[in-house]
Amino acid sequence: MTVLLGCIADDFTGATDLANILVRGGMRTVQTIGVPTAGTDLPACDALVVALKSRTIPAADAVAQSLAALAWLQAHGARQFFFKVCSTFDSTDAGNIGPVADALLEALGERIAVVCPAYPANRRTVFQGHLFVGEVLLSDSPMRNHPLTPMTDASLVRVLGRQSRHPVGLLPWSAVSAGGPAIEQALAALVAQGARHAVADAVRDEDLFTLGAACRQRRLLTGGAGLALGLPQNFRAAGLLPERADSDPPLCVGGGAAVLAGSCSEATRSQVAEMASRQPSVLIDPLAGGTPVELAASALRQASGALGRGETVLFYSSADPATIAKVQSRLGQEQAATLVEQTFAELAKGLLAQQVRRLIVAGGETSGAVVAALGVQALAIGPQIDPGVPWTRVLGEQPLLLALKSGNFGRPDFFSRALEMLR
Ligand code: ADP
Repeated sequence: MTVLLGCIADDFTGATDLANILVRGGMRTVQTIGVPTAGTDLPACDALVVALKSRTIPAADAVAQSLAALAWLQAHGARQFFFKVCSTFDSTDAGNIGPVADALLEALGERIAVVCPAYPANRRTVFQGHLFVGEVLLSDSPMRNHPLTPMTDASLVRVLGRQSRHPVGLLPWSAVSAGGPAIEQALAALVAQGARHAVADAVRDEDLFTLGAACRQRRLLTGGAGLALGLPQNFRAAGLLPERADSDPPLCVGGGAAVLAGSCSEATRSQVAEMASRQPSVLIDPLAGGTPVELAASALRQASGALGRGETVLFYSSADPATIAKVQSRLGQEQAATLVEQTFAELAKGLLAQQVRRLIVAGGETSGAVVAALGVQALAIGPQIDPGVPWTRVLGEQPLLLALKSGNFGRPDFFSRALEMLR
């Protein structure tokens, strides 16, 4: 198999977001969960996205995993590489964006790489090297209070400069908006100054398309999913990628459908409320007592009638902040999260055993737990349901379709529209 674009993503739902953009650009895309073991069978595709969980692990581990992913992608023929990071540049002074970007740059022997987390569709823009979330600087956004990666400095030149062993420069909007030759000139000037990372401004999709086109010969790009918008066209222009009307795989399976909602975000709670008003639903209450296996078995018993009639059942633990606080004070934050995640993992296995073949999972951690429990190794990326969330087909013996939704994504009727797409 010869792959054109090889991607390494530092988290799971971010990987899917990137894969979704590539499919919409006409590239057949497969996402793997970690670096596949030797001999894993993958279908022909134009882009491979290796989803790591390397955003907040020790930097040395993130580097080692990313280099292993790079070697695997190179072995599959990839000629250009994309290091996918969060559009809010989630990281700390210890890493992991800088150390991983350094290691990839050095392994590929590249002189400089463009770095740009901008994604205007999601209200992330970069100007004068400063990242904005909507109208406010990153350092004034809720990201400043993130429990693992508090972002208190909006200057990405400074942020990346503290993480990287190499000098970091700015590719300003004056160059980006002037187009390819101006970008080349600005990058050459940065190289002359010794910079190895160029934080690029981008305030419109058009800027990302321009940057993508200007980077067609560069072997490494580091950025948010938006930076990939222009890449499929480069491969088409070079005659490497045919026009594909069928970049997403056919999605027809028999069997039942279910929704597993473990996210407590506002978006997911309104999606849960919308669906619970129309479909059978079962609340997972971590305070009900019992192990994950017991809680899952009880939920399945409550749903057995509806599942038997072929109805779609919603299982949810989503709750408001006051309820969560109560649960956490009784069980402890970690323990509560693990209990709920493991209950969803057990539920997913139980639902598969009952011939459910279409599963929607809401929540990043919840999705991770479900995918691990089901032993999913790779996904073929299908059509988009809402921005950032496509249907996917699990590659393996059993037919199974998954929609894995990061908590905050999707409109209120996400669940019903997702299922409607498969009718
Ligand atoms: P999101 O994408 O919205 O962040 P996640 O699945 O990543 O969603 O995170 C939600 C976390 O909240 C999970 O660890 C989940 O187990 C936990 N959780 C879900 N429901 C409850 C609940 N009722 N009480 C306590 N914790 C919960």
